[in-house]
Amino acid sequence: MKIDLKRTDSAPAAFDLQIDAEDIELETDLARIDGPVLATGTVSNGEDITIVEADVSAPLVIDCSRCLAQTPLKKELSFRTAFVFSEQLSEEQEVELDLNDLELSVAEDDEVDLTDIIREQIILSLPASPLCSENCKGLCEICGGDLNKVNCNCKQEETDPRWAALKDLGK
Ligand SMILES: [Zn+2]
Ligand SMILES: [Zn+2]
Repeated sequence: MKIDLKRTDSAPAAFDLQIDAEDIELETDLARIDGPVLATGTVSNGEDITIVEADVSAPLVIDCSRCLAQTPLKKELSFRTAFVFSEQLSEEQEVELDLNDLELSVAEDDEVDLTDIIREQIILSLPASPLCSENCKGLCEICGGDLNKVNCNCKQEETDPRWAALKDLGK
């Protein structure tokens, strides 16, 4: 859905979208979209600023950063973000908008794509190191086994050769 930044209706327009997974490729290694993304919200066209508010529900699959397991993650997020068409923006307004503590994007074009906005917000909401669970034990550094599933004995058998050498000296 394209949002026309030049429109100046005062009544907010509501949207209720379902975006298919193939239409919202995240282009990040952190997560993949795993089903239709639902977005409801409003677009409010003001004098020169357009405010987009939305609640998004996105079924994702993340790769656990410790054990690498593919893990479903239902991402729910809400955002409120404002757009101005660069040609319509004066410097004064830029300062004022900054003070208003509103996330503001200056668009070079006179329209923005809602799917792009939603994609960006999903990426922003992703954790830098996603985990399958808070208690994930990760992979064994020695045998590579998934410590959530196997109980390898690598740690116990592990001896640092330098310590072994010192031990020999002590004899
Ligand atoms: Zn994990
Ligand atoms: Zn091991």
